[in-house]
Amino acid sequence: MQQPIVGFHQDDDGHWVADLACGHGQHVRHDPPWQVREWVLEDSTRRARLGSPLECVRCDTYADARMRGLCPEGALEASRADPSAPSSPRVGVAVIVRRDTRVLLGRRLSATHGAGTWQFPGGHLEMFEDLETCGAR
Ligand SMILES: [Zn+2]
Repeated sequence: MQQPIVGFHQDDDGHWVADLACGHGQHVRHDPPWQVREWVLEDSTRRARLGSPLECVRCDTYADARMRGLCPEGALEASRADPSAPSSPRVGVAVIVRRDTRVLLGRRLSATHGAGTWQFPGGHLEMFEDLETCGAR
């Protein structure tokens, strides 16, 4: 579900989060090679994005979970009303991409943690998301 960006803040790890009109936050990390959003690094280019639509993963996740009967009635509205509610179960998912005898690895450039280390592509599981969907994302 597309939602307009109404502001930005940084999380405890220093990653940028877009504040959306629905009340949810959406990370907008610049973490090459995984996510390239150089615009998030400068105040002026962030401000230029105010009002722009961004896909709200949490609205989509709750709507999908509700359709599958995994999400109780009112959970989406409760998540919008409580910005401190956890946005994900904090489960890490990695994907192993193989071609013949080669394996895809990425090197973290992030200044916040793991800089210079090699890792499989991956990320955090979102609320109500299954492992396959997370891996594809
Ligand atoms: Zn939302």
